[in-house]
Amino acid sequence: MVCLNDNDSSSLNRRIPQQATCATMSSMSKTWAIAIHGGAGVIERSLCPEAADLRIRVLEAVITSAGAHLASGQSALDVVEHAVVQLEEAAEFNAGKGAVFTAEGRHELEAAIMEGRSGTCGAACLLTTVRNPVRLARRVLDQSPHVLLAGQAAEQLVGDLEQVPNDWFDTELRRAQWSQWKQASSEADARGPATVGAVAMDINGHLAAATSTGGRTGKPSGRIGDTPMIGAGTWADERCAVSGTGHGEAFMATAAAHTVAARMAYGGDSLDGAASRVVQEALPPGSGGLIAVDAHGEISMPFNCEGMYRAAADSKGRFEAKIWT
Ligand code: ASP
Repeated sequence: MVCLNDNDSSSLNRRIPQQATCATMSSMSKTWAIAIHGGAGVIERSLCPEAADLRIRVLEAVITSAGAHLASGQSALDVVEHAVVQLEEAAEFNAGKGAVFTAEGRHELEAAIMEGRSGTCGAACLLTTVRNPVRLARRVLDQSPHVLLAGQAAEQLVGDLEQVPNDWFDTELRRAQWSQWKQASSEADARGPATVGAVAMDINGHLAAATSTGGRTGKPSGRIGDTPMIGAGTWADERCAVSGTGHGEAFMATAAAHTVAARMAYGGDSLDGAASRVVQEALPPGSGGLIAVDAHGEISMPFNCEGMYRAAADSKGRFEAKIWT
C-alpha cells in the first residue's frame, strides 16, 4: 500500500551517496555557496520519520557533493547541472525517475538551466524519453540558438544522452497519486510536489540556476509549467540565481524568478528581501517557494506553503537540510 502523502517509505528508492563532511568543504579557502530544493507544497508534518529522513539524507548527499565540486573550482553552471542530475536520479523527487503522471498516465518532463554572467540559458519541455532532462536543457544552452525547445525539436539534440522507455519513470508512489487524482478528478487534490532545483555561486563569483520537474499530477498532455520558462521558475543574472517550485501557473503569472532579480536591480532590495517579498506578497498563499543565491554567497529559501525540501551549504561552513520551518 502506498501512502499518497509521500509518507510510506517502503516505496522509496534508497540511494544515499557517501558524504564528505561540512568541515572538509569549509576548509577550502575561496568563497562559494549552493542551495538545492526538492519541491514545495503539501508536505504534512505527519510525514513518517523514515520518509522524511530519507529525503533529508538525499538532499545532504547532493549538497555535499555539489559543495565539494564548487570548492574544487568547478563552475556554478556545471555544479547546478550536476546537482539536478543527482536529484533526477533519486526516485523520491518529481523529476526524472519518480516524475508524476499526466492525466493520460504518462510522463512529460521539463527542465531549464541558466548562467548568470553571460545570460545564456536553455530549456526543454514535453520530453518523454530523456533520462536526465537537465542535461538536455544544458545542450540547448550550449548548442542551440534557441532558448526553449519542446518535444521532438528538443530530442533532436539528444545525441549520446541516455533515453529510456516512458514507463521507466514510473514509481509506485506516483502511480498511486495518479489513481487518487483520477478518483478526485481535480487538480486541486493532486499530490506530489517535489520538483528539484539548484542555485550556486562559484569561487569566481558567477551564478547559475537549474530546475527540473515532471510537472503536476494529472496535468493534461501538452501542459507546460514554470520550470522551463526562463524568468518564471528559473533565472540567473549577475546579481542572483533563482529556482522556484510550486504551482507553476502562479509562478508564470508573476514572473516570479525574474521578479526577485528585478527587485534587487531596480528596488535595491537585498536577496532575502526580494525573495521573501516575491514569495509572501506576489505569489498566492500556499503556492510554493524558491531558493536563491546572490553574488556575495547569501542564500534565501522562503516558501508560503506547508513545507519545502531544501538544503544549503557554503564555504563559511553553513550546512543544513530541512523540510519545514
Ligand atoms: N512548478 C511545477 C509545475 O507547476 C511543479 C512543482 O514545482 O511542484 O509544473
